[in-house]
Amino acid sequence: MFDLIVKGGTLPDGRVTDIGIQGNTITAVEDLGTAQARHVIDATGDLVSPPFVDPHFHMDATLSYGIPRVNASGTLLEGIGLWGELKQVATQDAIKARALDYCDWAVSMGLLAIRSHVDTCDDTLKGVEALLDVQEAVRPYLDLQLVAFPQDGLLRDPTALENTKRALEMGVDVVGGIPHFERTMADGATSIRLLCEMAAELGKPVDMHCDETDDPLSRHIETLAYETQRLGLQGRVAGSHLTSMHSMDNYYVSKLIPLIAEAEIAAIPNPLINIVLQGRHDTYPKRRGLTRVREMLAAGIEVGWGQDCVLDPWYSLGTADMLDVAFMGLHVAQMTHPDEMAKCFDMVTGANARILGLPGYGLEPGCTASLVVLDAGTPTEAIRLRPARLSVISKGKLVSTQPRGNGALTLPNRPDHVTRRH
Ligand SMILES: [Zn+2]
Repeated sequence: MFDLIVKGGTLPDGRVTDIGIQGNTITAVEDLGTAQARHVIDATGDLVSPPFVDPHFHMDATLSYGIPRVNASGTLLEGIGLWGELKQVATQDAIKARALDYCDWAVSMGLLAIRSHVDTCDDTLKGVEALLDVQEAVRPYLDLQLVAFPQDGLLRDPTALENTKRALEMGVDVVGGIPHFERTMADGATSIRLLCEMAAELGKPVDMHCDETDDPLSRHIETLAYETQRLGLQGRVAGSHLTSMHSMDNYYVSKLIPLIAEAEIAAIPNPLINIVLQGRHDTYPKRRGLTRVREMLAAGIEVGWGQDCVLDPWYSLGTADMLDVAFMGLHVAQMTHPDEMAKCFDMVTGANARILGLPGYGLEPGCTASLVVLDAGTPTEAIRLRPARLSVISKGKLVSTQPRGNGALTLPNRPDHVTRRH
């Protein structure tokens, strides 16, 4: 007797199978015939995937669009300035309420694990306290990892170093940084060294905003790779954005990419955000500002798409849908081969789970019983349709349902509804 059976769904690898769940664990992935269950979900013809995972988000800023004003220039730098204004007026309760609202959106989209940065450049650390509370509140259904993020610069802000250490002592999981926002290249390199040493000492992973600029001479990823190797942090470090690589000299990149691979650093491009933030100082041609995704994948580097922002000082749209992220990434990186489109789905599910080090992730016996049933037949169709999440199961429990997105037609001699599946 199972608690739940998901019947006849198609897995991302193409297998058609039943999934049997007991408690919060998947205990069978096979044809279960007439086996009994307390609850059965018929997924015949539908895609059944492990949950979506977002490796890069800012939950202390989300859903704040327009407070106290909007970003008029659309640049990263005005966004950082605006965030400074918002920090003055945001209360701990308001940050917490907005973050919990966002987590509801995420669950409804089958997004069940998020790595969020939290600003540590604030002597009250109200954002850190708010998100630690949220982490605890959502733990039964959503895995929230927090990154201590000195938004105004570890060395540029006078108390950032102390406050970042405090945040990590309070239980924040990951060490963050922003070397390209320090005053000088040298300070950027020093900030990376200090933060990586802190991570080595505390046994924590590292995830830095790194080279989020169109300046081809912003080469902090090189220092991050060096410090990762020096301190033995291989496999525990991620570089987020890496947009300067878009503009770098090709010869230099031919040396850099093998160094990133050797250091086992994961890359987290954020295509929704960077396609609107980058290239703002260009006339024409206007650079896209996305890092070199296909080239890094070809070198064996783990690359995962991140959402980064939803309705905040940097980005005025967003719905917590990782398929929006994959859709934009696929276009901007021109990943149109069938294998590349399928890879884009992996880059919002399995690859991101590996970057976060999520235990028990996947659809095999023994894995945590978290999954999403989509109104699509394949991963590529899911990216094309960004369809309804028919059922979302988290840790064995049904946490969200949604009706199919069929359109009704009233045309002569044509069907009465359309699914847009193909
Ligand atoms: Zn970010």
